[in-house]
Amino acid sequence: MKDIIVVGAGPGGLTAAIELKRLEPKNNIIVLEKSSEIGGHLVSGAVLQRNEYYDYISKYSLKYNTVITNENIWRLTKTSYYNLTRFAPSEYRNKGNILVDIGEVCKALATEATKLGVKICTCCGVNGFLSYKDSIVGLTLAGGIKVRSDYVIVAEGACGTLTEKILKHHNVKINKRYSLGIREERKYEPNNLTNNNVGSIYHTVGWPSDDNSNGGFVYCYKDKIVIGYVTNLDYSNCYLNPYNEFERFKSHPKISELIKGTIKTKYSAKVIAINDMNNPTVACFHGCTIIGCALGLLDSMKLKGLHNALISGKMVAEKYITTTTKMITNIIDNITDTDIIDTLKISNKTSSILQKYGALVAMIYRKINKIIFPWLLNFKFKNKWFNYDEKPPRDWNVKDTRDNSLMFSDLNYGPNSHINVTDEIKHKIYDLKLNNKMSTRFCPAGVFKWEKEFKHYVFKINHTNCLQCKTCLVKTAEKTIDWKVCKNGDGPNFMTENYK
Ligand SMILES: Cc1cc2nc3c(=O)[nH]c(=O)nc-3n(C[C@H](O)[C@H](O)[C@H](O)COP(=O)(O)OP(=O)(O)OC[C@H]3O[C@@H](n4cnc5c(N)ncnc54)[C@H](O)[C@@H]3O)c2cc1C
Ligand code: SF4
Repeated sequence: MKDIIVVGAGPGGLTAAIELKRLEPKNNIIVLEKSSEIGGHLVSGAVLQRNEYYDYISKYSLKYNTVITNENIWRLTKTSYYNLTRFAPSEYRNKGNILVDIGEVCKALATEATKLGVKICTCCGVNGFLSYKDSIVGLTLAGGIKVRSDYVIVAEGACGTLTEKILKHHNVKINKRYSLGIREERKYEPNNLTNNNVGSIYHTVGWPSDDNSNGGFVYCYKDKIVIGYVTNLDYSNCYLNPYNEFERFKSHPKISELIKGTIKTKYSAKVIAINDMNNPTVACFHGCTIIGCALGLLDSMKLKGLHNALISGKMVAEKYITTTTKMITNIIDNITDTDIIDTLKISNKTSSILQKYGALVAMIYRKINKIIFPWLLNFKFKNKWFNYDEKPPRDWNVKDTRDNSLMFSDLNYGPNSHINVTDEIKHKIYDLKLNNKMSTRFCPAGVFKWEKEFKHYVFKINHTNCLQCKTCLVKTAEKTIDWKVCKNGDGPNFMTENYK
């Protein structure tokens, strides 16, 4: 009998727990989740690829399970759009796929896991690990409690605190690129319940950004609309404000038409990690494996990671049960069998072309590429380092402010801050002097402020606003911000519907 701990109750972690218990009921499986409720810290669209997921999902009756009947890919101009849908290769098509709510999917998976005997502990953030020689033998919880285990599966999602510590300990670097997804859920106003657009999805590139790797999405469910905007965090113009880009996207005439007659009920944000697959990815260490989005297994072109998270969870479980040593073979080797790695490599290449030459060229490339030139995939396309012109702040006159949006995130924090500055002088030089208070703009929750006290600027952190998106860990290149996993389930709860 083994004690196996899974960190994170997202789709990857819960699938691993279910499969581990199913394959060997004698094992003790514990899932540790930092939020107060399953799904409380999860942010996603989410389009689910029907085929691969069907076995898992068809068992559950999900409230927001909506079949996609109409899909649109638009390139927005300031006042209008070009419809690019017809150029999209078949693998970007979503007709027949399902719109789900990631929180609900995870709740359903958690119910299944509990039925099988998996113990799920919410309010249990994991902050570190215990090691003996070169092996991981347990974990340290955010409150300081130490737990021993025979094996640990890390399914923390993008930019995981524990993941980073484990990789650093083993001197392993995984090249990842990051984007920030800001998302809002909107319900139909009571007098406007007829939604003729049910089952429609819209993906956009172009305005308000001139960077092809930024884009928006609108998903129309049976009784709600999910709208989001993804900003690539490689941007170099320190004046860019991802929240304002999201608001500008919402104000586009075509987009505002889509959300007309709805009211905001949830506001959330999360970093998305993309593994650039340029070097072999090590994901298995003695006593521990990293899976899902913690490893960056997300298709950047389709913005799909649920499927890969689930597959990696299933695989790690199967591999663990059939392996006797504490070091199971590299999960990446196994994933290669299922073509995920190839798909991710192609996707990353297309994404580079998209950034360089635009959406139309990228789609034509994929189309030609698929039929005639598979060998072309071996060419290396250099990622462009996004070159926004440095400009003073634009007229960011958005109607709906960050503070207003935060009322829809159900935030709950204790008095002690989980965010601190590690090196104040370095931080002042980097953030205030070189980047003109960049931290006051990149954070989608407005946590950071520079206030003048007796002629000097003082950095203020309002930790109680934090959405736990982890953008501050990506955008402070000098690593001057230290972010700890909270205890007691502190943070937002994206499962709560708010009517303000
Ligand atoms: C805006 C947006 C839109 C997206 N749209 C889609 C889509 O349409 N289709 C799609 O397939 N994918 C989409 N994705 C990606 C998808 O959400 C992820 O790929 C997927 O959720 C990854 O699953 P995971 O289990 O690896 O991690 P996650 O889903 O991130 O789950 C990680 C879990 O671990 C918990 N956790 C983290 N750290 C700790 C810790 N230290 N201790 C304890 N618990 C911890 C978190 O609270 C969370 O519950 C989208 C993502 C975003 C941000
Ligand atoms: S403080 Fe950091 S993690 Fe929290 S909302 Fe702001 S950028 Fe995201």
